[in-house]
Amino acid sequence: MQLLDGKKLAAEMKLEIASEVAQFKAEGGKNPHLATILVGHDGASETYVSGKIKACAEVGIKSTLVRFEDNIVEKDLMEKIRELNNDADIDGLIVQLPLPVHISEQNITEAIDIRKDVDGFHPMNIGRMVIGMPSYISATPAGILEIIKRYNISTSGKTCVVVGRSNIVGKPISILLSRKGYPGDATVVVCHSKTQNLKDVTIQADILIAALGQPEFIKADMVKEGAVVIDVGITRIRSELTKSGWKLLGDVKFDEVAPKCSYITPVPGGVGLLTVIALLKNTVLSAKRIIYP
Ligand code: NDP
Repeated sequence: MQLLDGKKLAAEMKLEIASEVAQFKAEGGKNPHLATILVGHDGASETYVSGKIKACAEVGIKSTLVRFEDNIVEKDLMEKIRELNNDADIDGLIVQLPLPVHISEQNITEAIDIRKDVDGFHPMNIGRMVIGMPSYISATPAGILEIIKRYNISTSGKTCVVVGRSNIVGKPISILLSRKGYPGDATVVVCHSKTQNLKDVTIQADILIAALGQPEFIKADMVKEGAVVIDVGITRIRSELTKSGWKLLGDVKFDEVAPKCSYITPVPGGVGLLTVIALLKNTVLSAKRIIYP
């Protein structure tokens, strides 16, 4: 079993991005700039946003955090998005989800200029991705692809089972892995809460992607010997054993599944770290006007 070490990959990729940013600036390019809107004080969102800001600083990307209290109305949030869409200095604009229930995530996602949609959540970017046009690929699927590529994991003709069909993880990764070329050309099966006899499906997987948000749901008897297991799940649970009072669990019962795998991602230290890297890469692509010249 080999660990798919997100921490090591993320560190390597941060150095690559930092050098790309430095070179771009040295050649007269602008300082890439990511704006993040955070509504309210959800603990997990605070952690994700501070991780993104720190990562930006580490690679030389400028970042701006715009905060609102959770009683902000949709119209005012829209107004801020319009302002940032029109700000030529901002290359990437993301709104941390989830939003309070009185605000439509769909409306907010669609309000972001597609050229600045470095989260890749806008329906236009998703549609372009589906038909193979240049687009921002959302950060978590992009992070998964990066892991697959950097560890030279073969995907052509493999059976890939994705558990979860959300718009931000399950659906896009299943489309990306069934695209022509590498990493793709896989035979992809998508499972969800209505899938019957899930274990009979997951056991077929050469590559198993768990993105269901149910801690330690995938057990050893659901995994084929020699499979590649990519655990996207992150669930924060209370713990008296950590300083923060929280610990993170993946969707895979790591200790029992790992010995059966050829490769496996840990949680924490796996996909999550690459998700942030993919966001940085998209911001640099935007500053360089590569996807939308
Ligand atoms: P969603 O809750 O949006 O989707 C979960 C999906 O899993 C749904 O399609 C649901 O099916 C399916 N599902 C739930 N329970 C079961 C079950 N018992 N059997 C089969 N399928 C099931 O989750 P997300 O995709 O947003 O996130 C999934 C996990 O990944 C979460 O833990 C989240 O925190 C984590 N995450 C991690 C990221 C990272 O950077 N590493 C980024 C984003 C998310 P149905 O559609 O039928 O309801």
